[in-house]
Amino acid sequence: MSGAPDWRAVALATKGFMPADEGDALHAAALDAGVRLPGAPWLEVGSYCGRSTVWLGAAARERGTVVFAVDHHRGSEENQAGWEHHDPEVVDLRVGRMDTLPFFRAAVHDAGLEDHVVGVIGRSPVVAAHWATPLAFVFIDGGHGEEPARADYAGWTPHVAIGGSLAIHDVFPDPNDGGRPPYEQIFVPALESGRFRLESATGSLRVLRRVD
Ligand code: SAH
Ligand code: MG
Repeated sequence: MSGAPDWRAVALATKGFMPADEGDALHAAALDAGVRLPGAPWLEVGSYCGRSTVWLGAAARERGTVVFAVDHHRGSEENQAGWEHHDPEVVDLRVGRMDTLPFFRAAVHDAGLEDHVVGVIGRSPVVAAHWATPLAFVFIDGGHGEEPARADYAGWTPHVAIGGSLAIHDVFPDPNDGGRPPYEQIFVPALESGRFRLESATGSLRVLRRVD
């Protein structure tokens, strides 16, 4: 038996931090945005080993568009050695730093999504500063410290097209559930700006629609 790879099985087998129900919700929200704004590309900040990227890439294929997947692939603060979310398998021993790019590339390949996922290797604020194309869907799951989260809000929310969606991961309104910056620096400011309204919530995933 051959045929198209089972992209969802690849996503579930890929290292990372996206629970299945939230990945499915991300996929559904992106499909919706792709109907509202056909042809416009999508963008993810924070791909790690490509787990969430596969859910987005599969939706992009279904809608005939592409997802730009931005990551420097050196890991967030919370992924480094000694931190809670560290995985020694993703360290490049030659340079002594994390390198998730080979894992990302393998996941996108194995899911059969190389025509629909464009890896952008670099720091999110640097890429955002040079970005000019309106995006139908932006998914922010990059650095969860205060400064990276603030920079992602400032850098990417202006590029969400009106009628498009902004998805944010690891939004924890209750501090007992997890770190604050995605909630305080991205989710709350987006709603308070009046430019976005809440569309859906699944676990720690929030999807907002740009209305203005
Ligand atoms: N979405 C992934 C998890 C992302 S983890 C999944 O589904 O599993 C966060 C990622 O953000 C890491 O890979 C890290 O390298 C990246 N990152 C953190 N800060 C960044 C920045 N300023 N620019 C680019 N990438 C960044
Ligand atoms: Mg996350």
